[in-house]
Amino acid sequence: PYDLLVVGGGPAGAAAAIYAARKGIRTGLVAERFGGQVMDTVGIENFISVPYTEGPKLSASLEQHVKEYGVDIITDQRAANLTRKQMVELELQSGATLSSRSVVLATGARWRQLGVPGEEKYRTKGVAYCPHCDGPFFKGKHVAVIGGGNSGIEAAIDLAGIVKQVTVLEFADTLRADEVLVRKARSMNNLDIITNAQTTEVLGDGNKVNGLAYTDRETGKSKQLELAGVFVQIGLVPNTEWLRESEVELNRMGEILIDERGATSVPGVYAAGDATTVPYKQIVISMGAGATAALGAFDYLIRSSVA
Ligand code: FAD
Repeated sequence: PYDLLVVGGGPAGAAAAIYAARKGIRTGLVAERFGGQVMDTVGIENFISVPYTEGPKLSASLEQHVKEYGVDIITDQRAANLTRKQMVELELQSGATLSSRSVVLATGARWRQLGVPGEEKYRTKGVAYCPHCDGPFFKGKHVAVIGGGNSGIEAAIDLAGIVKQVTVLEFADTLRADEVLVRKARSMNNLDIITNAQTTEVLGDGNKVNGLAYTDRETGKSKQLELAGVFVQIGLVPNTEWLRESEVELNRMGEILIDERGATSVPGVYAAGDATTVPYKQIVISMGAGATAALGAFDYLIRSSVA
């Protein structure tokens, strides 16, 4: 059995594994794919102390750093369930079970997709999901934000300070964001809002986005906008479906509830990163959270009797 088993190989999981291994405890890391969302990212300009890097490069450094320690890395494996008996038992989809005295859950999240033509084709070529990350790439340009909930309106306000023009498209007839955000958005003169708009296609020139097509749900008419970027803000889904049958407490959005040390509702089970209730989902934040969770788990281990 392991002393600490990390589930997930993104920034949170990598940080947790390094912090655990440096305590000299038996550490394992199981992940479907090393690097997590970072592998899907092109330019990264907010990884502090590194002015510019790219996803695959940062992923490779994460993996190399973890490999400097005696961490048992198991990739291409999906966790399927977690139970707690004497130890924490992690069931894998392959049928195997791994036992550990403590666990750090770091299975991350994924952006909900529109599912319209052009979205996949122009991903990272104008289709973006993270305004903190990609906003500055659209300086001086016209962009759309799809989604009029809190994250959509926050993104629109944020982007309006950077880009030339922001158009928000909301499917319903009203915005679902908090009134104070809506008021702020309406007060900005380079931000306009279209409700009853069903996005039907992301348009491009073959290399990058140059527009967007939507249906006006009131009139049924098809319309087009000319723009350079589309920020999809219709939800971030935590990769925690596999925990639904477990005793690990999740909130209504499926995020793992943690305390300030990363502890979940199950003794010995810690969590970090985008899969949790942590308010902002970013690489540096996930790494810090991974370190916190590993130290939290280590504290737990030294206080529990040796199994
Ligand atoms: P993830 O990176 O999501 O990693 C999750 C890990 O868990 C992966 O290894 C995955 O394979 C594994 N996993 C999932 N389910 C299972 C399972 N059932 N069993 C086993 N393993 C599993 N942030 C920034 O700070 N700057 C940026 O510029 C930036 N740009 C971004 C661009 C894009 C396109 C995207 C999608 C995100 C971007 N982000 C950026 C956000 C950042 O990538 C995330 O906040 C960060 O990767 C979260 O780290 P994590 O370790 O919590 O989860």
